[in-house]
Amino acid sequence: MEDFKERIQRLKREKDAFIIAHYYQRREIQEVADFIGDSLELSRKCTEIPNRIIVFCGVYFMAEIAKILAPEKKVLIPYRNAGCLLADMAIPEEIEKAKKKHPDAKIIAYVNTYAEVKAASDIICTSANAGEVIRKVDADKVIFLPDKNLGAYHKRSVNKEVILWNGYCPVHNRITWDSIERVKKRHPDALVIVHPECPPDVTERADFVGSTSQLVNFVEKSPHKKFIVGTEEGTLFKMQKVAPNKEFLLPDPVPLCDQMKMITPSRLITCLEEEIYEVQVPQDVAERAKRAIEAMLSLK
Ligand code: SF4
Repeated sequence: MEDFKERIQRLKREKDAFIIAHYYQRREIQEVADFIGDSLELSRKCTEIPNRIIVFCGVYFMAEIAKILAPEKKVLIPYRNAGCLLADMAIPEEIEKAKKKHPDAKIIAYVNTYAEVKAASDIICTSANAGEVIRKVDADKVIFLPDKNLGAYHKRSVNKEVILWNGYCPVHNRITWDSIERVKKRHPDALVIVHPECPPDVTERADFVGSTSQLVNFVEKSPHKKFIVGTEEGTLFKMQKVAPNKEFLLPDPVPLCDQMKMITPSRLITCLEEEIYEVQVPQDVAERAKRAIEAMLSLK
C-alpha cells in the first residue's frame, strides 16, 4: 500500500507536475514539495519550471503569480479558497482613488495582493526587497500598500515621502512584544528575530528583522544557538533543516496562518489526481500585473 509521499511522487511523474510550497505550509506538504521558498523566491522559480503542471501550495494570490509568469502552464491550487486577509485589504477601486489624490506618487504593491491590485500598481515588492524597491523606484513620493507595518519599517530608513495603506497581516500583527517576552523570560539567551510585517514596537526591539528567507539565512549563518522566531510557525521546518543543532522557539501564542494550513495532504492528492482547481487570470489583468512584477524582477 502506497503512503502519502510515494503516492505524490508517482502522481508527479504521471502528471508531469512540479510542486511549489511556501514556507508557511504544513510540514507534510513541505516534505513532498520540489521547491520551498518565500514570495520572491517562488516568483523567480515559476519562470524556470519545465513541467506541464505547477501545483502551488500556498494562498491564492501566490498561485496567481505563477499563472501570470508562466501562462502556458496549467497552474493548480489544492484549495481554491485559501485566501489572505492582508491581500483582502486592498481593492483596485481604492487604488484609483489614491492615485487621483496623489497623482505624483508611484504605487508600490506588496506581493501579498491580488492580480487586479498588482495590475493597478507601478511596481511590486516582497518583504525581502521592499526597502530596495522604495529606494530605487523613480519617484520622491510613493504609496505603499497594503501592509502598514512593512511600509513603516522601511519608511524609517528612506529619504522619501511614503504614504502607508491601512492594511496588516492578522498573523504577524498579533505578534506583540508581550508575546515574545513571555518566552524570552524563560530563555534570556535567545536572539529575537522577526518578520517586518510585525508591529513597529516589535521590529524596533528585535535583534534582527528580515523576510522569511532572510530569517532562514540568518539562523543558518549566525553563531548563536537559540532563537525566538517572530513569524509563522511553518518557517521552523526549514530552519531545523538548515540548522539542525540550533533551538527555535515561537512567541506565545504561536503565530499560525490558518489559510496557509488549508492545503492538506488529501487536498493535494485530489488536486493532482483530478487536475483541479485550475487558476485563471484574465489576460488583460495578467499583462498589466506582469509589467509590475517584471519591474521588480528587473530592478538593478
Ligand atoms: S501569514 Fe498573513 S500575509 Fe501570509 S498568507 Fe497568512 S494572512 Fe496572508
